Amino acid sequence: MAGGSDVVETLSCARCGKPANLQCPKCVDLKLPREGAAFCTQDCFKDSWSSHKSVHSKARLSSLGTATAGERNSDLASKGWLYCLRKGQSRTPKLPHFYWTGTLRPYPISAKRIVPAHIAKPDWADDGIPKVEPNSDLQHHVEIKTSDQIERMRETCRIAREVLDAAAQMIRPGVTTDEIDQVVHEATIAAGGYPSPLNYNFFPKSCCTSVNEVICHGIPDARKLENGDIVNVDVTVYYKGVHGDLNETYFVGNVDEASRKLVQCTYECLDKAISIVKPGVRFRDIGEVINRHASMSGLSVVKSICGHGIGELFHCAPNIPHYGAGNKAVGVMKAGQTFTIEPMINAGVWRDQMWPDGWTAVTADGKRSAQFEHTLLVTETGVEVLTARLPSSPNVFPWLNK
Ligand SMILES: [Zn+2]
Ligand SMILES: [Zn+2]
Repeated sequence: MAGGSDVVETLSCARCGKPANLQCPKCVDLKLPREGAAFCTQDCFKDSWSSHKSVHSKARLSSLGTATAGERNSDLASKGWLYCLRKGQSRTPKLPHFYWTGTLRPYPISAKRIVPAHIAKPDWADDGIPKVEPNSDLQHHVEIKTSDQIERMRETCRIAREVLDAAAQMIRPGVTTDEIDQVVHEATIAAGGYPSPLNYNFFPKSCCTSVNEVICHGIPDARKLENGDIVNVDVTVYYKGVHGDLNETYFVGNVDEASRKLVQCTYECLDKAISIVKPGVRFRDIGEVINRHASMSGLSVVKSICGHGIGELFHCAPNIPHYGAGNKAVGVMKAGQTFTIEPMINAGVWRDQMWPDGWTAVTADGKRSAQFEHTLLVTETGVEVLTARLPSSPNVFPWLNK
C-alpha cells in the first residue's frame, strides 16, 4: 500500500454512527481529534454543521486564551478569511436580547440561485465546502504566477469589473440588495463565469452587499435601499480556473456630508496603498499607508478582516492587514504575485461585531463603514490593477471628475 497512514482506524459518523471515512476539513486544519470530526456522507456533515462548528471556535479560543490582546488581533488577522467561516447559523438571534449595534436589521433571503450546468464551478459549489483551498501550500507560500495564469486573471478580473459596474448602475432608493444580487448572478453567468461567493462555506448568495454600519460580508436580502444609505457591493468571479475580486461603496440618493467624506477617504486609502506596490516593498507597509490616511481624517481601520492572495484559489497567502500598529505581515512583494487590497474604514471605532447569521460584520458602535477593493498584479516596475475602472464604468464618484 502506498502513502497515507499505516494505522487503520474505524471511525463512526458523528451524526448517525454509521462507518465514516469523511473528515471535517476544518478539524483537519486545526489538528483536532479524528473522532467527532468524521462523517459518513456530505449530507450528515451538512446537517451537523450548525452544532459541529462550535468545536472549531472552542479550539481556536482555547489556543488564544493565553495570548495578549495584540497577539489575538494579529492571529485573527492572519486568519483573515478563516474569520468568516461560521455558517449555517440563523439570521435572527436565538437569544431574546441580541444587541444590534445600529439601526439595520436582517430581512428575508431569497432561494439559492441556479447556475447552469455548462459553467465551470469551484469545488464548493455543490456542497458548500472548499476542499483544495484550506489544505493548499499556497496558504503559506506566495505564488509567483505564470504568464498563462496572469493572462487568465486579466480576463477574469475584467469580467468581475463589468459585473460590478452593472450592479453600480442600478443603485437607487427602493432597489433591494437581493435585486442587486440577481443582476450580479445573471451578468456573471452571461459572461461564462461562476459567482465565487455562492455557497462558499455555505454563503447563500452570489455577492456581498454591505449597507451603512455593515463592514463586509452582508447578505443580499429583501431590504430596500433608502435615500441616504451607503452600500458596498463585493463581486468575485471564477472564470477559466481563476478568481477576480473587487468591491466599491456607492451612494444611494442624497447622502450626508460625513458619509461622503468617509467613502471618498476610503477610496483614497486604497489608491494610496496601490501607489506603493512594487517589487521589494514590505506587505506591512500597506497598512501603514492606509492607517496614516484614515487617521488624518479622524477615521479608523478595521483589523479583523484582511486582503488576501488570489488566483486559482479564492483566498490564499499573502495576508494583507490594512492597519498600522501591530501589523505583523511578513515578506516583501515580488513580480508575478497577485493579491487584493480592500481597506474597510469606519466613521467611529475600529471594532467589529458579528450578526447571528455568522457572516454580517458590523461596526461595534453602529456608525458607518466603507470599503473599496482591487485585485492587483505586482509587475517588474510597479503594479497592474487587474480590476481597474474601464472607460465604460459608471460615473458615480464625484471626486474622479476633478
Ligand atoms: Zn471582494
Ligand atoms: Zn477579497
